[in-house]
Amino acid sequence: MFINHEYIEKILEDAKNATREDIKNVLEKAKKRSGLSYEDIAVLLQVEEKEDLNEIFKLAGEIKDSIYGKRIVIFAPLYVSDYCVNNCVYCGYKRENDFCRRKLTMEEVAEEVKILEQMGHKRLALELGEDPVNAPIDYVLECLKTIYETQSDNGEIRRVNVNIAATTIENYRKLKEAKIGTYILFQETYHKPTYDTMHPKSIKGDYEYHLTAFDRAMEAGVDDVGAGVLFGLADPKFEVIGLMMHNKHLEEKYGVGFHTISMPRLKPASGVTLEKFPHLVDDEMFKKLVAIIRIAVPFTGIIMSTRETSEMRRELLRYGVSQISAGSSTGVGGYKDREEGKEALQFKTSDDRTPLEVIKSVLDDGYIPSYCTACYRKGRTGERFMKLAKSGEIQNVCEPNAMTTLLEFAIDYGDKEILEKAEEVIKTEKERIKRQDIKDLLEKNLERLKAGERDLYL
Ligand code: SF4
Ligand code: SF4
Repeated sequence: MFINHEYIEKILEDAKNATREDIKNVLEKAKKRSGLSYEDIAVLLQVEEKEDLNEIFKLAGEIKDSIYGKRIVIFAPLYVSDYCVNNCVYCGYKRENDFCRRKLTMEEVAEEVKILEQMGHKRLALELGEDPVNAPIDYVLECLKTIYETQSDNGEIRRVNVNIAATTIENYRKLKEAKIGTYILFQETYHKPTYDTMHPKSIKGDYEYHLTAFDRAMEAGVDDVGAGVLFGLADPKFEVIGLMMHNKHLEEKYGVGFHTISMPRLKPASGVTLEKFPHLVDDEMFKKLVAIIRIAVPFTGIIMSTRETSEMRRELLRYGVSQISAGSSTGVGGYKDREEGKEALQFKTSDDRTPLEVIKSVLDDGYIPSYCTACYRKGRTGERFMKLAKSGEIQNVCEPNAMTTLLEFAIDYGDKEILEKAEEVIKTEKERIKRQDIKDLLEKNLERLKAGERDLYL
């Protein structure tokens, strides 16, 4: 087992005795990007002094800027089925909750997709509960096919990340063939005793089968995986080291670790109140966790959902978050239901702004909202992607692609204000591109977009 509980607990305990000097040394090491050990990360996790915390935030911000520049990737979740055979203590879809469950028909999937396309989305995360009878792998494959085939005007979904329960190598192969983007699976908690308590009498209750899901996905050729824990279930410091151990295990065995880490925090849901969870993470701790993960795994995207308030999301973009969802509904058929004024949710969202409002605020903060999906379509995934990312060369495509997709969004779905803001940001950011050949390619793509062409990328 690659999650060594005693070892994690020991290094977290030892790190409580770290001196200011020790903390400074770890930060120096992180600045040089020479890689941090688990012990180093434990030292950062135990930091409490304001001055040291500010150093952590500053360094995380610098790393974020140097690797991700100004771009923020935008996506939306699509919930297709709330049937679930599991009974996860923290989830509104748990089987003991008695509500009228549903799964979308393919016509309904297409309807949801059209609404999402009209919001300008190009990248979705497909979400569903675990139910081998009501929502088997064939249903998921059908959904994928429908999503990719549903187009309206200039709208099309170009990348579907899939968040389905841990499954077999054979099923992962089918997902690969169906052209998924990232395979996302949250471990929820790396702490086995907590895992067992949170997943009573269910398929998901098998800690080891869940933990080794990415191994099976990699064996099946899915080399793009996204991890996550639900912060609030167990000691969050334990979870961060757990994430790092899982990542390292994949790097050592398959040459590539997590493409993304999602950072959801426990939220109230139907039949779920927060009193019984002793490890809830407050805002200050949450900011620290995001910053430390950014420092520890600079090339792994950090995803934040609309569980967080707009203020929190704005702040966390500075310290490390690189992908956010916008205009999300977390209910099955939720986009259509929302248009009709009724939604049943997996968890409560806190940022209920429309995509246009989110994009305006992201632009106002000086970022470039990006709808880019180029890597996946050019086969730049897994090890190939990580090599490009680590060499810094990825910057030469990410930044121009962010600008191109932003202009495409602004022309097709924005209002006058968005278009003006987008053109302003693009004008400024274009000048920062150092390589003239890249600048020329970008300018050409922007002109072609204005002339009516779509889906342009480097
Ligand atoms: Fe089902 Fe997933 Fe909710 Fe657990 S977290 S009850 S597996 S939908
Ligand atoms: Fe992501 Fe690749 Fe696009 Fe960069 S170029 S934003 S890494 S898809």
